[in-house]
Amino acid sequence: MKEILSDRTSKIDASGIRKVFALASSLKDPVNFSIGQPDFDVPEPLKEEAIKAIREGQNKYSQTAGDAVLKKKVSEQLQREFGWSSPSIIITCGVSGGLLLTFLALINPEDEVIIPDPYFVIYKHVINMLGGKCVFVDSYPDFKLPVEKIADAITNKTKIIILNSPSNPTGVVYSKEQIKRLAEVASEKDILVMADEIYEKFCYDSECPSIANYYEKTLLLRGFGKSFAMTGWRLGYAATNESLKNVIEEMTKMQQYTFVCAPVPFQKAAIAALDYNINNLVDLYKSKRDLLYEGLKDKFEIVKPGGAFYAFIKAPGGSGSKFVEKAIANNVLIIPGNVFSEKDTHFRISYATSDAKIQEGIDILRRLA
Ligand code: PMP
Repeated sequence: MKEILSDRTSKIDASGIRKVFALASSLKDPVNFSIGQPDFDVPEPLKEEAIKAIREGQNKYSQTAGDAVLKKKVSEQLQREFGWSSPSIIITCGVSGGLLLTFLALINPEDEVIIPDPYFVIYKHVINMLGGKCVFVDSYPDFKLPVEKIADAITNKTKIIILNSPSNPTGVVYSKEQIKRLAEVASEKDILVMADEIYEKFCYDSECPSIANYYEKTLLLRGFGKSFAMTGWRLGYAATNESLKNVIEEMTKMQQYTFVCAPVPFQKAAIAALDYNINNLVDLYKSKRDLLYEGLKDKFEIVKPGGAFYAFIKAPGGSGSKFVEKAIANNVLIIPGNVFSEKDTHFRISYATSDAKIQEGIDILRRLA
């Protein structure tokens, strides 16, 4: 059967996460620190909006780039937030959809994409699938934006610099100074920055600055899934200011021949979501962050996360994979760092679970440290 599969399938390695799931299948009521989505449900008023849209017959295709009212509302928000004069927008099937369209529209074989390591998994695999080259820039041990290393990594083949803040898997938020400096570096070499801000709302200590404030050539990707616990609704958007409107046009062309459009009843509900305040849920997640960090900081090497709902922690003994096996044998599901990195020295915790489970997980992990 092997010859029926394309060569690109061999460029993707799903083994890291699969191994965790295989090991986990025998567990009863584990502490599940592996899932990257909020543990609350879609707020009721937003569910009602989706149900209303379905009942009203909003069940057909929308324009490829998305529902006009939703796009207008996103556009007004971006104008207010960044002072963008004339944003270009496409509503995507989750941020994953936006990522695929971005890479389809921008990457030629051999083009280089600079990615701070650790990184969100999709980037590496889709870029590899398209024949692009990932240039990883190490951000260990504190996971601050490694601006000078990024500057050194730029070549005449560099097409994109990826920023993801707040970050999956580290939970780290890049500072205004680091982001401004990166904007200078990118501007000097005229390189597009793709800012994946799917966790923008999960921001705990100070503001989570966006590079879109400081750099005109930013391609912004944001989502609805994490903010409103609607990961299964598959909604996000990609946006640029006027100078990159051709990128959004080409991404729209790619959407026409792939996803066609984002799910329409959920696009309707997203209009209401843009006005929906989740500050109380963010406060709740901040207290979960505190519970986890305070519970582990004296036993583990852990950088205090400032956003998202992850912590990326150094594995006792030095091997992320080995420590993950030990944790799973003790009923705690975590993900080895090598799923998100070229190194295997850490593990990722998602603390998007109940406080009782977080505490149970802390107690077990402390015993294993
Ligand atoms: N970017 C990052 C950093 C993520 O963590 C995720 C989801 N885990 C995505 C993009 C994709 O999100 P979506 O479900 O909206 O496709």
